[in-house]
Amino acid sequence: MRRMLYCLFLLLCSSVFAIEMPSKCPFCGQENTIRPIVYGKPGEKMQKAAEEKQIILGGCCVDYPAPSWGCISCEKRERLPLVRFRLVIKDNDAEVAKLEEYIGKGNSWSSYKNIPAGTELVKKDDCFYIIEKDFYDFYQLADAKIDGEFIKVNFTDKDRKRFAELTQKNINRQLAVFVLGEFCCAPVIRCPIEGGQIQVAGYPHDMKYAIDKLLCQPEKKVK
Ligand SMILES: [Zn+2]
Repeated sequence: MRRMLYCLFLLLCSSVFAIEMPSKCPFCGQENTIRPIVYGKPGEKMQKAAEEKQIILGGCCVDYPAPSWGCISCEKRERLPLVRFRLVIKDNDAEVAKLEEYIGKGNSWSSYKNIPAGTELVKKDDCFYIIEKDFYDFYQLADAKIDGEFIKVNFTDKDRKRFAELTQKNINRQLAVFVLGEFCCAPVIRCPIEGGQIQVAGYPHDMKYAIDKLLCQPEKKVK
């Protein structure tokens, strides 16, 4: 019964959160190849949609956290969590200074290749950040809501501990916060955050609809 409810929840997710899928595959770079993964025993309609490559069939048995979208070109599958954290490199300022020198010579920032291995260059509001590719996903949210310019998130006990450890280990480093895959802000960790509460500024307003839908916790509506 629980599994059935969960399948239903995922079905709801994949229809409601269509908006949270990236337009371009983050793995192979192809455009228009991302499709929602739909779980459960396929009926005629689902089968047809899968044959037409409108959806990807995920099967009946799912383990949490299950991927919510996949790429029909490279076949990678992923689930975007509400919040994901990645560390900004330690010497970001020095590296960004080199980048700015490069831009000063008339080059475009997007063609800059001189960043450390395993990192990615990200631009937000005219600031540059070189961010480690490793990420920390947090799926276990006790509650979350949009409050004006912020998204306020409360982790469950398990993720509260994980977040406390992550912040404890990385004092004085900048932690890049992503909401549904979009880079929002990169505050400096000044002390371990042990209460399991965070406020995220700079969330993408064009994704407010998707975030609102996600925050209304559709599993509670399943009867
Ligand atoms: Zn791909």
